[in-house]
Order: sequence, then structure tokens, then C-alpha cells
Amino acid sequence: MTKYIFVTGGVLSSLGKGIASASIGALLKSRGLKISMLKFDPYLNVDPGTMSPYQHGEVFVTRDGAETDLDLGHYERFVGIELSSHNNVTTGQIYSAVIEKERKGQYLGKTIQVVPHITEEIQKRIKKVARKDKAQVVITEIGGTVGDIESLPFLEAIRQFRLKEGKENTLFIHLTLLPYVSSSAELKTKPTQHSVGKLREIGIQPDLILCRTQVPLTEEARSKISLFCNVEKRDVIQAIEVKNVYEIPLKFEKERLTKNILRKLDLSISHENLNEWRKWVEKVNNPEGEVKIGVVGKYVRMKDTYKSIYEALIHAGAANRVKVKSLWIEAEEVEENPKKYLDSVEGILIPGGFGGRGIEGKIRAIQYARENGLPFLGICLGMQCATIEFARNVARLSGANTTEFDPGAPQPVIDLLPEQKKVKKKGGTMRLGSYPCRLEKESFSYRAYKKPVIYERHRHRYEFNNEYRQILTQKGLKATGIFPEKDLVEIIEIPDHPWFVAVQFHPEFQSRPGSPHPLFRDFIKAAIK
Ligand code: GLN
Repeated sequence: MTKYIFVTGGVLSSLGKGIASASIGALLKSRGLKISMLKFDPYLNVDPGTMSPYQHGEVFVTRDGAETDLDLGHYERFVGIELSSHNNVTTGQIYSAVIEKERKGQYLGKTIQVVPHITEEIQKRIKKVARKDKAQVVITEIGGTVGDIESLPFLEAIRQFRLKEGKENTLFIHLTLLPYVSSSAELKTKPTQHSVGKLREIGIQPDLILCRTQVPLTEEARSKISLFCNVEKRDVIQAIEVKNVYEIPLKFEKERLTKNILRKLDLSISHENLNEWRKWVEKVNNPEGEVKIGVVGKYVRMKDTYKSIYEALIHAGAANRVKVKSLWIEAEEVEENPKKYLDSVEGILIPGGFGGRGIEGKIRAIQYARENGLPFLGICLGMQCATIEFARNVARLSGANTTEFDPGAPQPVIDLLPEQKKVKKKGGTMRLGSYPCRLEKESFSYRAYKKPVIYERHRHRYEFNNEYRQILTQKGLKATGIFPEKDLVEIIEIPDHPWFVAVQFHPEFQSRPGSPHPLFRDFIKAAIK
């Protein structure tokens, strides 16, 4: 019998509902339960793949090639599981499925309505996760904020879900904000009362309330929330702000959240086993040094765009016992004077991206790293830029470019494969998901991974153009990782450099707190040196 936990959010967005859900997953897993996670996103896009980073933040790519919400990254990192396309469902997907069935005549003449057809499709997706992932507990996060028009069908669906599955098998957790008003030195509960009121209007009474707060929850606030929101006092849980998000499961555990959930769902309680997690958090919080990494990108003011990279740097820092101070540098600014921006950093990372703005700045930054022996990690577009930089400045192919930004480039060192040239549709048509890559023994990469074949996740349309492979390798660039089936270059390195590695895939998606990604780990190690 699967148990179902639903996490909703109130008052405002960005309260950390994803991290809270992921933390609950981590805690239940620590009690020996098999967990799966589901994120519902209330927008009409089929997936976030077509959205701008300004709208959406990072697009997290799963092993099976789904372009998903960045919360799936939190889930994978915190719970230590690998998710797939069925673990992120949008309103767009729900409606597409329902309309497709309607067109096939599968509703046998009925009028198709939000209730019951859309809500039933939503419930099916929850069951599908339980079935496919053979989970004992499925934690479903409802995107958006209670009160939004868009999330209503999802809330209605989970209300019905409880009715069908039983109270003892379902749990509603609501995350809200308790603003602190400094003039009166008071924690305010009114927004929480309103938000819970909104939930109850649609027939959902939360079982547990997580209270995001800057200051410790007072007894008074707890009593008030208990009384007005109709929950027991012990079900009002403090979610205090922390510097290091990996502390959140430990804070929740202290608040007896796990025991509380297990009791309510009538699950047997095995002992908590969070020692490894605790040790790791200690490591992050007590670094022995610091290393400065310049991340040169296009959306640096939007940290969410590079979420997984940021996390991977934290993991790699902990493994090397240092705090990684990432300086997020706007690529366009580097173009004029790279030294000004990069003089103080000990390593340079160029993340993935789309669109030509800032590309010349990235190329200048790579040149700076190459010429000054600064450890360099290029990811996806970062690898493509590294190829262009090497072609222009070392191989003297002055017209080198990617056809993404210069379709008529005299030397298209990065180009589309013939099969990609035919593709007209934008959504879901890139090279997506996990592909094998064979490593060259004598390489930085092999030294990092310590195995001949690796699997990494992709999200790009353009590729290293093999027509230029010979000339570039003759000049000292080394192709150290190859996708054998199509002989595609996945990794390039400059052996005659302290540490220069650029990869066509996205290693950041597979980095985990306890097991940092080998490339990030060695990159930071080289930067420390
Ligand atoms: N824009 C490049 C491509 O499509 C790189 C994509 C990326 O960095 N994720 O190939």
C-alpha cells in the first residue's frame, strides 16, 4: 500500500517548497522507506524546455531526457534517487493527454470537463509514479501558491484523491511564511491563517503546517496557528531560515517532523540514520580554506539558472574541504577587459547557454584561462566556446564559430548534425538525456572518473564538427571523450595545461552531496593548487 504526501505552498512563492519536499523525502528515506517524488507545475507549457531562464530558472534534465523543473534537481540530490519524465507533470501535459483521448473518441460521447476529466488525469499521474517507481511513499509537490487560478484543478484533484485513498494513506502538508515585523518584534500569523482558509475553502484541511520564519517560532505564534488553522500544536512545524540548505532535513528532524509524518501515516518507525548527512553538513560548514571560481555566464543575476552548477560546486568544495566562493560574472562585461574580472579567481567555469549574447566575452575568458594556466571547466556551450577559442587563437582559423550564432561561419567548428538540420519543432527536439562516453586513458577526465565508460546527460542541438577534428588535434587539442555510436566528440582537453577540460554534456546534474561529480571535484582540486 503506497502512502501519499502532498505539499502545497501559501502566501508567496520562493519559500523553498521544493527543498522542503526534498528534505521530507530525504528524512523518510533515512528511515528505510522507498520514496518517489512528483512535481506538478501549473503552467500550460508541456515542459520548461522552451522557456527562457528568466521565466523559469534552470531546466533540469533527467536520465531519460525529460526537460523538467529545477525542483527535480533538489529531489535527486536530497533523496539520492534518479527521476524520469513521469516525475514532473505540467498542466500542458494533462490537457494534451485529455484532448488527445477526446479526439480518439475514448470518452464515449461525454462532455469533457475540468472536473472530473482533468482532475482524474491528474490523479492517474500520481498513481503512475507509485506504480512505476514501486514507491512506498510518493511525495507530490503542487507548484504555485494556493489561491492561484492555475493550481485549482490540482488542489481539487488531491482533495478527491484523499477521499478515494483514505485519510490514513494521505497527508497534506502546507508551507507558509511567517513574516517578522521588527517594529513590534512580532511574528505575524495572519497570512498563514488566510492561506489555510483558502485551502479549506476547497475542502483541504492541512495535517501539518511548515512555518518558514527568520526567527524562532514563538509559543504564542504556534498556539495561534494551531487554533485558527485547526491543527494540533505539535503539527505546527518551524522551518527556520538557514544558510546551508542541506541543514534543513536536520532541522526538520529536530522538530520531530519525521516521527510526526510516520505516526500520521501509520508507518513503522525505524531509527533515524542521518549520521552521514550530519557529517557532510559539518564539512560544508567548517571549510579549511577558500577557493574563488569565476562563473562567466549570461544569466548571472538569476542564480536559479545555474542551480545544479552552484550545488555541484558546493559538493566539490566539501570534498576538497574548502568553501567555493563563486563569482558570477556577466559574460558581456568580460569582453572588454578579462583581466579586470578574472584576475582574482583561481578557476574559471563557463556554463551552458543559448543565444549569442555574451559569447565573445566567454571566448575571451577561456583564452585568459588557457593562456594563464587557470583551471578551466567548460560545460555544453562552454565546451563549444572553448573549441571556437582554440580554433581561432591556436589553430589560426580566424572565421571559426558555431553555426548557432553565425550560420555562414567560414569555419563552422560547431555545427548541427544532418539529422538535426531537418528538425523544425522546438520542444523536446534537442539531444536530450543520458548517453555513453568512452574516455581516453591519458586524460584529466579518466583520472577524475577512473573508469573507461561514463554516462552523462545532454541538452543541446549543436555538436563538435568532426571535419575540424584533425586540424585542431594536430595543434594540441585532445578529444578525450567520444560517444562511440556516432563518433561524436564529448570532451576536449588541453593536456599542456594544469587542468583544462570542456564537456558537451551537463555533469552538474549528477553531482550529489555525498558523492561530488568527479570533474567538479578535480576542477576544484586543481584550482586550490
Ligand atoms: N546552445 C548550444 C546547443 O544547443 C548549447 C546548449 C547548452 O549549453 N545547453 O548546442
